[in-house]
Amino acid sequence: MLMMTINHLTCSICGRTYAPDSVQYCCPADGGNLTVHLAFEDQPELVDRESILGSRDRSVWRYAPLLPVADPGFAGTPLHRVGGTPVYELPGIRRSLGMPKLWVKDESPNPSASFKDRASAIVIAAAISRGEKLTVAASTGNAGAAMACMAAATGQKCLILAPRTAPPAKVAQLLSFGAQVVLVDGSYDDAFELSLQATEAFGWYNRNTGFNYLTAEGKKTAAFEIWEFFLHRNEAEVEDLNIFIPVGDGNILTGIWKGFKDLLALGWIGKLPRLIGVQAEGSAAIANAYAQGAAVIEAVRSTTLADSISVDLPRDGLRALHAVRESGGEYITVSDAEILAAIPSLGGAGIFAEPAAAAAFAGLRKALQSGYNPAQPSLVMVTGSGLKDVRAATQAVSQAPTIAPTLAALKEVTKHA
Ligand SMILES: *Cc1c(COP(=O)(O)O)cnc(C)c1O
Ligand SMILES: [Zn+2]
Repeated sequence: MLMMTINHLTCSICGRTYAPDSVQYCCPADGGNLTVHLAFEDQPELVDRESILGSRDRSVWRYAPLLPVADPGFAGTPLHRVGGTPVYELPGIRRSLGMPKLWVKDESPNPSASFKDRASAIVIAAAISRGEKLTVAASTGNAGAAMACMAAATGQKCLILAPRTAPPAKVAQLLSFGAQVVLVDGSYDDAFELSLQATEAFGWYNRNTGFNYLTAEGKKTAAFEIWEFFLHRNEAEVEDLNIFIPVGDGNILTGIWKGFKDLLALGWIGKLPRLIGVQAEGSAAIANAYAQGAAVIEAVRSTTLADSISVDLPRDGLRALHAVRESGGEYITVSDAEILAAIPSLGGAGIFAEPAAAAAFAGLRKALQSGYNPAQPSLVMVTGSGLKDVRAATQAVSQAPTIAPTLAALKEVTKHA
């Protein structure tokens, strides 16, 4: 079966190196996130580029030769519909922002309607190959929904711990997928800690973002798709892109960075693109550290309405901080009002985004106000569907008028008659 062997894992804090079978989650010495180093980093000839480019599989499993887990099959199920999401040009938005080289990658067509499916697909494949009985995930909603969706698609068991305040649509999704759902009377961070204790006490397999090192390996597939998209076009080189990414725990940004690092190691790109991390003002632990030039990340008391990026202590903050610095990018913060305003802006181009997913676009608009060059080739990640949180979307738009069912009443409220 096609997959790539793990050479070793390195800790993002102490730099220690571990053999792949010697640790399961974080660095035993200091709890740092572990980065996967694959055999092709030293031996690019292990990978056949043309067979990847020629594959008819449009899902994340297209890149199985670059992943540390093998495709477990289930070809006719949602597991094989993860990834392969569209990159749009959006002429209306390009015109209104004066940005001729703007693209949006929309993750809402994923089976559970968010970017998180990329990680959950890879984790469920690992759970199957390891013969795990149950996978647990702490989640503000999307990671859990993704896990529950992939578990359902493959007949696996999972248990999701979510904060009591998770948006109802996300909880309904979890329950519909048949996961065991437990709501925690506390924050996402409380649910996270509880899941770690359960993993330790009951031996469950843990999918948590920024804990299970495979999540970033799944998320890196978005970078591969972006690379492939620009390979076939001459409007811009992928190396010249600025990529705007919404950031909570920092694992999506870290995963996308890892994907580009892999492409560089393979010699398939010549340099790395720039990453722009966008955080909510009310949940800006990583952006604060960036602004202060700090080496450690201080927890905040998060307050944003964008629940998917509402995090007190980012679980993959250090790597997300380093990646942005190394890429020559920056962190931007946006207010909840700016996030809400971005929802109908994307909506006007046919994209329905949840608040966290609209945040990156809000970040781009904010950057333009402070002198960002509109000629710069830029790609904005839209990470999840607006159907995930209709209450927020309702706050972002004006109400529709209600009328009597008569032509006269209709004429009064429309400008088109
Ligand atoms: C999880 C999530 C994010 C943030 O990803 P992190 O890895 O926590 O930084 C952004 N948008 C959506 C829709 C998400 O579900
Ligand atoms: Zn360490």
